[in-house]
Amino acid sequence: MNDNLIGIHWITLTSTWDEEGCRKAIAEAKRIGYSLIELPPLEPGAAITRFTRDRLAEAGLASTVGLGLSEEQDITSPDPEKRAAGEAFLSATVDMCAEVGATMISGITYSAFRKYMEPSTAEGRNHSIEVIRRVAEKGAKAGVSICLEVVNRYETNLLNTAAQATAFCRDVGLPNVKVHLDTYHMNIEETDVYQAIVDCGPHLGFFHVGETNRGYLGAGNIDFNPYFRGLAKAGYKGPVSFESFSSSTVSQPLLGILGIWRDVWEDGIDLAEHSFDFIQAHLKAAREVVARS
Ligand code: MN
Repeated sequence: MNDNLIGIHWITLTSTWDEEGCRKAIAEAKRIGYSLIELPPLEPGAAITRFTRDRLAEAGLASTVGLGLSEEQDITSPDPEKRAAGEAFLSATVDMCAEVGATMISGITYSAFRKYMEPSTAEGRNHSIEVIRRVAEKGAKAGVSICLEVVNRYETNLLNTAAQATAFCRDVGLPNVKVHLDTYHMNIEETDVYQAIVDCGPHLGFFHVGETNRGYLGAGNIDFNPYFRGLAKAGYKGPVSFESFSSSTVSQPLLGILGIWRDVWEDGIDLAEHSFDFIQAHLKAAREVVARS
């Protein structure tokens, strides 16, 4: 029995979120044993949104929504139009979550998802905190949390370490605003991944498992033990979700932002089966270590 819901990002299972892709992704996730799927943001009230809600309900799968703000939606921007566009998008995604039954928005919710050419500013951070606070207040009424994904320096200039994200959460000061950590990014930016997870502790709300080359877990350079042991030591009970990208399924603009230039896999179903077993085994091993230490 797992303490944590084990999830998978939709793009491993289908390249497009249309009716056919939605049906396939939810059915395969369920068959493999996943209990959660990460959805793309969808338009509230659209036919595909209702279709997604119905397939999720049939399968009994939990769901979250993963996103990254565009440059035109940058809530750290000095341009009030960009901040308003970002807030409107996040607010609409809260409505979408309520419609399909998703409990969380995660990813790069707090800045644009892009390579910045200059450091973040205190003013930009304050703008982001104000927007995240208003969106989270709305989310709280719908049972939706807002998670801030800590990503590497090439994908944001604001939250590159778990400590920065924990401080941001404290400054927002709402219980449904949490930190989202990802092994791929932590491997680049953290000095001690185990300690970073333990210190994040009760602020941690979502966790991505990804390999250095974004492909099969264990087929890259990450030593996953300190990450999973950190989760066990922190007593983390939230979702643990697999994320992978290959040029066989990812298209623009995500392909360009993430730099997905190579096929690291072709069969997303085989990959998803492997990842479920890998995550389940590592969670179990880490719990045994911590229980006996
Ligand atoms: Mn991630």
